[in-house]
Amino acid sequence: MAKVYYNGDVNEGLLQGKTVAIIGYGSQGHAHALNLRESGVQVVVGLRQGKSWDKAAEDGFDVQTVRDASAQADLIMILLPDEHQPTIYKNEIEPELTEGKALVFAHGFNIHFNQIVPPSNVDVFLVAPKGPGHLVRRTFEEGAGVPGLIAVFQDATGQAKDTALAYAKQIGAARAGVLETTFKEETETDLFGEQAVLCGGTAALVKAGFETLTEAGYQPEVAYFECLHELKLIVDLMYEGGLETMRYSISDTAQWGDFQAGPRIVTDETKKAMKGILSDIQTGKFAKGWILENQANRPEYTAINEAEKNHPIEVVGRELREMMPFVKGKSKGVVGSAKN
Ligand code: NDP
Ligand code: MG
Ligand code: MG
Repeated sequence: MAKVYYNGDVNEGLLQGKTVAIIGYGSQGHAHALNLRESGVQVVVGLRQGKSWDKAAEDGFDVQTVRDASAQADLIMILLPDEHQPTIYKNEIEPELTEGKALVFAHGFNIHFNQIVPPSNVDVFLVAPKGPGHLVRRTFEEGAGVPGLIAVFQDATGQAKDTALAYAKQIGAARAGVLETTFKEETETDLFGEQAVLCGGTAALVKAGFETLTEAGYQPEVAYFECLHELKLIVDLMYEGGLETMRYSISDTAQWGDFQAGPRIVTDETKKAMKGILSDIQTGKFAKGWILENQANRPEYTAINEAEKNHPIEVVGRELREMMPFVKGKSKGVVGSAKN
């Protein structure tokens, strides 16, 4: 079994007396900045003028431009949207990235796919919480944490891994467990998980189930509950105790149906498609497409996003959630924070 690091395994002293620049104050940024500060680490936040700047200042942080924050810091954690990182890095971070500093990421995309190429005299590593930023913050406040991954891309000081572990501990991740990985593994598995299962696979499955029922004449409201709303209850059980706990909780009829129908839905063909998706990630084909889509100002992303908003499951869902204020309040919080 892979080695898992917990609080007791980590020397957090490595961040003592150092300044950490948190670049970005969104989902991950606010959580890292607040958790580090409460762990006694000196934090400066780097941003452009705007919403996040005001929020970070309100939270009592020393907020500066990305360039000024990078100049002051020993460790620079980039928590900007992945697609904007290369330009901001080139213009505002690289000029201040002097020997012995650490350049840190929460996702390996830009390093692994060669969009950011740091100088060889700095440490480069990642600390990736395996959960949305708002949970990184909330669990920390509760005395717990979200598990995390660390990986070292470049070790100029000889202390990159220990510094990564210290950082992971100070944001609360080592309370839940920290695993060591590589930039390649983190990047490729993260992309595969969100595409094949968590986001792409699940959204397509939910829509296809809804369409099958409504095309057969069943009420959209009923189809919505069966194919989307109840998914959360099932996933919660899986989260608690794997497939076993989920199957223990459902009826025997549901479990028999699960065994019979599952393999008819996710077939050898589906598995073959998954392998194709993984291969596009490994070869860099997916990354290239996404980088070019951004350079073109996202024409395809925008068109699909608009069409998806009007899918009948979304239309009926909006109406139903209006009548379930408990769901609505909750989902708003999650929508803003559940990015992978
Ligand atoms: P968000 O989109 O939530 O936040 C981005 C932040 O960057 C905002 O504060 C935004 O400020 C700021 N920003 C955007 N453009 C600029 C700019 N040009 N100059 C200065 N600041 C700018 O990002 P996430 O927290 O979702 O993602 C950050 C990183 O964490 C990514 O690498 C992502 O892959 C990784 N990650 C994210 C997870 C998550 O839960 N969301 C989970 C694990 C990893 P403004 O208000 O000015 O726009
Ligand atoms: Mg049912
Ligand atoms: Mg992701």
